[in-house]
Parts: sequence; C-alpha cells; structure tokens
Amino acid sequence: MLSPNPIVNQPLDHPLLEEKGLELSIKRLDLIHELVPGNKFFKLKYNLLKAQAEDHHTLLTFGGAYSNHIHAVSQAAFALGMKSIGIIRGEETLPLNPTLKAATEKGMQLHYVNREDFRKKKDADFIQRLKEKFGDFYLIPEGGTNAEAIRGTREILSADDYGFTHIGTAIGTAGTFLGLVQSARPDQSVLGFSALKGDFIHQEVAELSQTFGIELSNQHQIFTDYHFGGYAKYRQSLIEFIWWFFDSFGIVLDPIYTGKMLAGIWDLIEKDFFPSGSKILAIHSGGLQGNEGFTFQTGIKLPTLSR
Ligand SMILES: *Cc1c(COP(=O)(O)O)cnc(C)c1O
Repeated sequence: MLSPNPIVNQPLDHPLLEEKGLELSIKRLDLIHELVPGNKFFKLKYNLLKAQAEDHHTLLTFGGAYSNHIHAVSQAAFALGMKSIGIIRGEETLPLNPTLKAATEKGMQLHYVNREDFRKKKDADFIQRLKEKFGDFYLIPEGGTNAEAIRGTREILSADDYGFTHIGTAIGTAGTFLGLVQSARPDQSVLGFSALKGDFIHQEVAELSQTFGIELSNQHQIFTDYHFGGYAKYRQSLIEFIWWFFDSFGIVLDPIYTGKMLAGIWDLIEKDFFPSGSKILAIHSGGLQGNEGFTFQTGIKLPTLSR
C-alpha cells in the first residue's frame, strides 16, 4: 500500500485572526504523499486495497484533461506496480498538457471519448465494451467518489482535531465533505465550499448520503457563492488571493478547489461569520499538480512550490 507521511496541522499567524479572536490552521494533506497527495490519497486508499484483494492488475477511470483524479490514479497505479487506463473527455490535443503528460509518463494509457460517449460512463453496456477493448480492470468512477472513497475520507480527521470548532473543505463531488461530516464530532461544524456553480450540490449531497447510508446528523453547511465563475473558471480576484496567501503564509493553493475554499473562509472571517474563540481547520486537499496545467492553459502564473 501507499504509506502516508505524517499529517501536519499548520497554524496561521495574521493580525486579522488576532483581531477577530480566531485560530486558523491548515491540514496539509498536500504533503501526505509525493505521488498521490491531497484528498485523493484517502479517496483511493480503499479502492486500491479492494482492487488488489480482487487481484486486478489494471485501474480504469474517467476524467477531464486536467483532472487531479486522473493524475492521482496514474501515480497510484505506478507506485503499486499496476497498469492504468484513463478515459479522457474530449479530443486529444498535442502536445499533451502537464497533467496528461505526467500520467502517461507513469504508464497511464489514455483513451479519448467524445462528450456524448463520456456521459455513458456509468452505463453497463459502455463499461462492458471497455472490458472487451481493454480486458479486466478495476473501475473507479469519475471524481473517485464511491463507498470505498467515503470510507477513506472518514480517516482525514483524527483525535488531534477534535478541538477545532469548524472544519472547512472544498467540494467537487462531495465525497470528501461527506466523509468529514460523518467523522466529525457533534460539536464541530463542517463547512463545504462548492467549486461548481449552482445549488444542485445540495441535492447531490442528499442523494449521495442516501446512496451510501450516511447520517447527516452532524452540523454542516454548504456555501455555493465562492465558485468564482464555476468549475475550472476563475476571476482575477481569485488569482490575487492565491498569490496573497502564498506571500503571507508560504502555502501554495490551487485555483480549482483550495484557493476558492480559503478565499471563502477568509471572506467569512472578514464578515464575522465565525464567533470569537472559533478554531478553524481548513483541509488543504492538494490539487497542486493542476497549477502547471492552469498556467499552460491560461498563461497566468501561479505559485508552485511551498516554502
Ligand atoms: C478532487 C478534489 C477535491 C474534490 O473532492 P470531492 O471529494 O470530489 O468533493 C477537492 N480538492 C482537491 C484539491 C481535489 O483534487
């Protein structure tokens, strides 16, 4: 199995936190593993164990061309001596972007499908045709959220974290958010910041919790107004926040997830959302592999290395 580095909660020092009587720490999941950092480490953990227990030698999954999940699966397969196949939405463009280049360098075989076919990713027929084409594989869904993934994300918090009053995390498919809500204490509040535009995420979370039998009894709240234009979209203010955060604390954020989440938390701090005395733990869910791809795509420079 992939062995994790020790997880560090890094406290931040800033006059605004002092003024408001708050503590803010960052759980540095971005440092948990060199090849498979961030929340993907936890989302893949039990999938990888299951794949190995069932004697599969190949992982197959789906994603966009800049996907952290595609990247993580390719790296995990490599680290475990497994093969990997990435079903990528859209057409091949050359040269490969940094995400897909890194994936192929770790042996991932890429297979491009058009948007229409990509939508069939859950259909039994479509999966069967993939099996005919590629042979046996262990299937991980797009974004990686399944029962095994949620089991893994329940391990992000440990007893050392029970002193925090609020846990903040970015939301994509909400697998990470649900694991946190399930594993938090009743006196803790889990705050999710959706990286996608729209209110559908509330419905999505309700459906997922039903599917996976998750009690949403712990305190939780989802914010939908920190998407900065929508998934994989950005505004100049987000880029400026990421640079400000790096200059202030030496921590690199990504523009798809963690930058939006921390911009949200910081905004809520300024707006006095948190009562004085609150202790906030923000989950750095990784995603920094995407910064190079973001620059590749937009020409906008981002910080890339933590000091
Ligand atoms: C995948 C990812 C997320 C989203 O996780 P979900 O479990 O899909 O909500 C958040 N942050 C980063 C950095 C990611 O790569």
